[in-house]
Amino acid sequence: MRTITQIYIDGAFVSPHGEETADLFNPSTEEKIGTVRLGDRQDARAAIAAAKRAFPAFSKTSKAERIDMLKRLSAAVSARTEELTAAMAEEYGAPHYFTGFSVLHAASAFLNMAETLEGYDFTRQIGRAEVTMQPLGVVAAITPWNSNYGFICGKLATAIAAGSTIVIKPSEMSAIQTQLLTECLHAAGLPKGVFNIVNGRGDVVGAEFSVHPDIAKVTFTGSTAVGRQILKAGAETLKRVTLELGGKGPNIILADADLGQAIPTVLMMGLGNSGQACVAGTRILAPASRLTEILAGLKAGIEAVKTGDPKDPQVRVGPMVSQKQFDRVQSYIRLGREEGAEILAGGEGRPDGLERGWFIRPTIFTSVTNEMRIAREEIFGPVLVVIPYKDEEDAIRIANDTSYGLQAYVHSSDLDHSRKIADRLESGRVVINGAPHEPLAPFGGFKQSGIGREYGRFGLEAMLEPRAVLV
Ligand code: NAD
Repeated sequence: MRTITQIYIDGAFVSPHGEETADLFNPSTEEKIGTVRLGDRQDARAAIAAAKRAFPAFSKTSKAERIDMLKRLSAAVSARTEELTAAMAEEYGAPHYFTGFSVLHAASAFLNMAETLEGYDFTRQIGRAEVTMQPLGVVAAITPWNSNYGFICGKLATAIAAGSTIVIKPSEMSAIQTQLLTECLHAAGLPKGVFNIVNGRGDVVGAEFSVHPDIAKVTFTGSTAVGRQILKAGAETLKRVTLELGGKGPNIILADADLGQAIPTVLMMGLGNSGQACVAGTRILAPASRLTEILAGLKAGIEAVKTGDPKDPQVRVGPMVSQKQFDRVQSYIRLGREEGAEILAGGEGRPDGLERGWFIRPTIFTSVTNEMRIAREEIFGPVLVVIPYKDEEDAIRIANDTSYGLQAYVHSSDLDHSRKIADRLESGRVVINGAPHEPLAPFGGFKQSGIGREYGRFGLEAMLEPRAVLV
């Protein structure tokens, strides 16, 4: 049993003023594995004050000094890879293949930002104006539970590269992972107050960060509903915001796709991170002319997906993070039936042989129209829908007929053909034939998937403010 009693403010682990506690669970067994003591508004304000005190000196540090800090942070995270991986499997239930990627991704976020910073010029001449890119001030980061290390490290790396100080509120459901990660970050020996991490509830610590006048910017990853609240709360003090929100990605199989390659990729893009992924390609768009063979391939493919113990290297789908998330996904499977969709594979209840744990049967619905709620709302679990299309105009229309626009997928044996389709998709990213992640390219959403971009130069500039001096 783990008891987490401290938060991290001004370079030290301290007891919070808040006294509320929250229970922590192992989603694979449903057992309680710990408790975390949560910070309150007073703790949030103490963290902001520490970051504010640290800002004047930190904002004057040189590029070389900040690159050195980023490298130290990366090394400090890498040094405890095994423990970080184990904590993510235990507290979040992420399968082995995903924890391996996640810790590496988190550690490399600092190196990617160091590379961006290396090539970035903070000053430029525009006509008579000397333009310098200035750090914003104190930034607040609010992050979800589905990739705790990656979101904390990505946002922290960007703030440091920009010369801003930061206060971070991770998900209260990720406290064991956060504790370990904070120990790593502390070991990198940054000046005190540059980063501060406060466990706490969203409607308490997150809400305080969203209204406090000393916060210049909120960078948030989470649901569209909470993103909207943060935008409203920040309006009073005109905070800058980056919002990375939900998605309902179209996963388009073009008629010329090689199904032997496309079907496994379609499933991987739909079920990644056990379906608890904003970027998941959950709407499979299939040409009506090849529907029968596509459905047969999808059924065989998803029935071969192993669900279960995250430590088993064969497992591709782990449990949902919480009872609440399990219930929510189950309710969407029920809703799909009520809406008239048919189950091709999976369905309600737990997979065979798994009586404990918040496991879901990987599920595919057919006879789905894009008007159904299961096709429009983010389910955030291993539940996919197949929507047939008549021709490519129809595919593009259906793909774009959504309030989201985060990440789309195109599968085809012709790259030029895929690019032409990609060009017409209202989506922050389009992935062709399951191409790997590009960490220096911008990431973020069109429409209600968010505001702004993260990663690389675009991400760095989202934490800077230009000042033009006219001579
Ligand atoms: P959530 O929006 O419920 O919570 C995210 C964070 O916001 C948590 O730390 C939470 O405590 C905090 N929060 C809650 N209420 C708040 C409030 N009123 N004010 C300030 N902060 C508040 O999301 P979640 O359930 O933790 O994560 C799942 C959601 O995140 C999904 O919708 C998913 O699509 C989205 N997500 C988006 C991306 C992306 O990059 N676009 C990545 C991962 C997850």
